[in-house]
Amino acid sequence: MDLQALYKIGYGVYIVCSRQGDRFNGQIANTFFQITSEPPTVAVSINKKNLTHEFITASKVFTASVLAQDTPLSFIGQFGFKSGRDLNKLENVQYKMGVTGAPAVLENAVCYVEVKVIKEIDVGTHTIFIGEVAGAEVVSNKATMTYEYYHLVKRGSTPKNAPSYIAPEKKEEAPKMDKYECKVCGYIYDPALGDPDGGIKPGTAFTDLPETWVCPVCGAGKEEFEKAG
Ligand code: FE
Repeated sequence: MDLQALYKIGYGVYIVCSRQGDRFNGQIANTFFQITSEPPTVAVSINKKNLTHEFITASKVFTASVLAQDTPLSFIGQFGFKSGRDLNKLENVQYKMGVTGAPAVLENAVCYVEVKVIKEIDVGTHTIFIGEVAGAEVVSNKATMTYEYYHLVKRGSTPKNAPSYIAPEKKEEAPKMDKYECKVCGYIYDPALGDPDGGIKPGTAFTDLPETWVCPVCGAGKEEFEKAG
């Protein structure tokens, strides 16, 4: 059995939000999908350890915002690698209150869908929440980010047709520089790519990054990085 096969499944990148009382939370999910069209029904799979799981279980409502391809890594990192138990993830994020009373993130979204949960399926580590669509709106005409794009283009190993790809000749001229890995989230800093979202030009060695530089995905400081083998 080759589990690599599972990585070939196509997904998007979504922010799923819910509420509990007057508290809001949101998280990154890649498993949000439509099940039926009559009536419009969707589902999402959420890890039981997540605060969003607690909120959806309590309120029976959630929203899913579909992220655009040009969403900065730092924005995804804010929802993906930090816990809502430690901070209000929606602070300083543009969102609207949906008809369900749960927030729907508008920033970097191409659309959002609001959902009322009608069924929950316990699948061990996760719960699949199935619900009817209570509201939906298209926010922009930008391309949708796929999970593959997020991993291949945004995180380092770069396909030739990507805008950030650097031709081999150019690469050979530059001195060989080490890649560094974030111990918190696994992000790889590749000097050949730099960190365009963070204003770091391609060709910048890790050791030359300013001390104020942080992991574009999870916000960890330079000291959390170690040389990638
Ligand atoms: Fe990180």
